[in-house]
Amino acid sequence: MIYSLGSINADHVYRLLHLPTPGETLAADTCTRMLGGKGANQSIAAVRAGACVVHIGALGPDGNWMRDALADAGVDVTHVTEAGTASGHAIVMVDASGENTIVIHPGANRALNPSQIEVALRDARPGDWLLMQNETNCQGEAARIARSQGLQVAYSAAPFDMDAVRAVMPFVSLLILNAVEDAQLLQEMSVVDVPMRLVTRGAKGAEWVDEKSGKAVFVPAFRVPAIETTGAGDCFAGYAVAGLATGFAPAQALRRASAAAALQVQRPGASEAIPTAAEVDAFLN
Ligand code: ATP
Repeated sequence: MIYSLGSINADHVYRLLHLPTPGETLAADTCTRMLGGKGANQSIAAVRAGACVVHIGALGPDGNWMRDALADAGVDVTHVTEAGTASGHAIVMVDASGENTIVIHPGANRALNPSQIEVALRDARPGDWLLMQNETNCQGEAARIARSQGLQVAYSAAPFDMDAVRAVMPFVSLLILNAVEDAQLLQEMSVVDVPMRLVTRGAKGAEWVDEKSGKAVFVPAFRVPAIETTGAGDCFAGYAVAGLATGFAPAQALRRASAAAALQVQRPGASEAIPTAAEVDAFLN
């Protein structure tokens, strides 16, 4: 079982000829609304990879369609509560070349309370996983509770926030970073004291380091014609943790994650572009 503590956002995507400059008002060519948020993306990736996923998060009174979308994807939404504030949302502007600018309003994602986490993790068992990133509050409390119950904690330190990293670090089993976050972290601390570290490096692939043994596994990315890489990191993280939670050895779990992300980047969108385990198997065979 994976308990996924994470953000759920309404992504409002505006397509424009060019991104507005300061003071400029522009009419968008199209406007679409879809389910987003790193937490929701990671939960959907883990479910598509074949894991059972309980999402822990919060939405506002305007968020029922997002709860339904997560449930339709196969995620357990029992612990997605209703906060007294509007749901998180993102304004995503994309120009004709695919360049984007994003503003996020965290809203209900930052309105979780520790007692909600305690209740959600009450039935968790040793060997289950807690998966988190930095788009909610309560990560430190969740990590502490999870470790005390024998769960493994996977933490994607994105968006990078050193205070959040410090609060969570003592409880983390698997730290997940992209290349920029890894560089930011190494600027702040010379020794990264976690059992396992996974660093994704876009089209170059990813590295898995077992910090205890010093053993490193390099996971090459597949050469594919990428059209949109938004959410590739979430797809990779969800697949990697699901692979470990469902019994794959790290090398296999990471190869599957790399294949899933390679399929994801060839399709438009974020969560809707995440492939199923059957698609990953077909790609690898
Ligand atoms: P994002 O913030 O866009 O979600 P990220 O920066 O967190 O992404 P990346 O390191 O860019 O994550 O990508 C995660 C993984 O996705 C990579 O390790 C790789 O396996 C895969 N990937 C990303 N870009 C490509 C690409 N162009 N071709 C093939 N695989 C890719």
